[in-house]
Amino acid sequence: LETKEEYGHKTLAQDVMHPRQSEPLLVVLTQEGMSVGEIEGVIADTDYSGFPVVVSQESQRLVGFVLRRDLVISLDNARKRQEGVVSASLVFFLEHVTQQPFSGPPVVKLRGILDLSPFTVTDHTPMAIAVDIFRKLGLRQCLVTHNGRLLGIITKKDILKHMAQMANRDPDSILFN
Ligand code: ADP
Repeated sequence: LETKEEYGHKTLAQDVMHPRQSEPLLVVLTQEGMSVGEIEGVIADTDYSGFPVVVSQESQRLVGFVLRRDLVISLDNARKRQEGVVSASLVFFLEHVTQQPFSGPPVVKLRGILDLSPFTVTDHTPMAIAVDIFRKLGLRQCLVTHNGRLLGIITKKDILKHMAQMANRDPDSILFN
């Protein structure tokens, strides 16, 4: 990510983030209430490198970001090493598990793999600024919010593709050179 000049002043985070209008919704996990089986389903159905974790589907308030590979390893470990964990076991990203169920299988706590301060910009942040921070912090992705609600995600590849489109070049020639 070197040529921020190519960005000019007009491109905003909302122009580069996904999902765009007409694209499927952002795939998020909730900080409580999802089961091991449900999260394994999300992993199987998508190939995203990571997932934002939100307070609830209704609020879309951002809690953190979890990498796909950490989720896969942790769920696998829980199934193998934690006694009694099954598909119906509830997964908690919360610090304190408030409703430890009296009946039902043991819960899985995944607070440890959550990045609690993922980088965020608002939908109206100029991409020139976002690109600058991406480069300086060596980010792989950044989340986009509006009034505290999670809207979307921008990955490093999204930026490279968008730059290539703007320069009217074949994205592959930039990505793989
Ligand atoms: P990359 O962009 O490096 O291929 P990903 O595989 O994570 O990284 O993302 C692929 C595409 O899907 C990108 O355009 C990104 O903006 C989008 N994306 C990433 N994570 C999610 C998610 N959890 N829900 C919806 N879209 C996502």
